Amino acid sequence: MKNTTLLLPLMLAACSQAPSQSFDADNTIRIMKTLSADDMKGRRTGSEGNAKAQAFLKSEIAKLDVFDMTYETKFKTQPRPNRDGVIPPDSPVYDAVNLHGLIDTDDNDEGPLFVITAHYDHLGERDGEIYNGADDNASGSAALFAIAQSFVSVTSNHDVLFIWLDAEEMGLQGARHYVQAADFGSRAVFNLNLDMVSQNKTGEIYASGSYHTPALKPLVSKAAKGVDIKVSFGHDRPEDGPNDWTLQSDHGIFHSAGIPFLYFGVEDHPHYHRPTDEFSTIPIPFYENSLKLIVNTAHVLDENLESLAQSTRL
Ligand SMILES: [Zn+2]
Repeated sequence: MKNTTLLLPLMLAACSQAPSQSFDADNTIRIMKTLSADDMKGRRTGSEGNAKAQAFLKSEIAKLDVFDMTYETKFKTQPRPNRDGVIPPDSPVYDAVNLHGLIDTDDNDEGPLFVITAHYDHLGERDGEIYNGADDNASGSAALFAIAQSFVSVTSNHDVLFIWLDAEEMGLQGARHYVQAADFGSRAVFNLNLDMVSQNKTGEIYASGSYHTPALKPLVSKAAKGVDIKVSFGHDRPEDGPNDWTLQSDHGIFHSAGIPFLYFGVEDHPHYHRPTDEFSTIPIPFYENSLKLIVNTAHVLDENLESLAQSTRL
């Protein structure tokens, strides 16, 4: 009798938080380290280092026993437009590649699609220095592997498309290519985007997008319970001005197309877009907690996908 009364509150407490999903953190960190190593030369779109990163990602994607289909899409891109919104006519054109992995759970191929994205390109080399882009965005690119791995033991409720996007640093071009041209674009009902998820001094990460989709807040809070990380909401209101991140990474393209999003990312830090954004400066315990939060959240979103799409204001 005594045991029963003790157990009941414990069980209730357990129900109020999302179950922790399993993934191999060491493997995720290895992928992040490899992507941000010097021989990837900063992964600038169209460069040799970027091609090397693609080859590495493809070999890691092939090792995952979770995707029903993998494919790549190629497109041409130019550097981001100047302040007047114009791309100079003489600016070079680069070859870019998005990499995709689809979990095809649903027999209904017209059904809702959950799209999870992270860009793998970065700035490349400047003045003889390598901009390794460990936090931006080897961290998010590797996190996609953690999420994918977690869907091996827990079947998703929906079709889930993972995209390693190229050419974000050239103006969100990979996401634009997907949303405008890809045949799955019309089925996409929600985008989870990861960009810079491993670097913060105070142990804080932002979950951005709940201004547009209020139903996100309780779901992310549920996923965060039991994870040693400070989750803040914000950076998503028009009155935030330059601190409104709604259009500042790949999720912005989804948002503009009417597809709700959740973006995980940290505030800018001293290593942001500097050669010191490299593996040696990453606080690994923070990254591990960030991964736990992200993986738990992906499952909670999958469980609530329809209601999220309905609660969005654009
Ligand atoms: Zn980035």
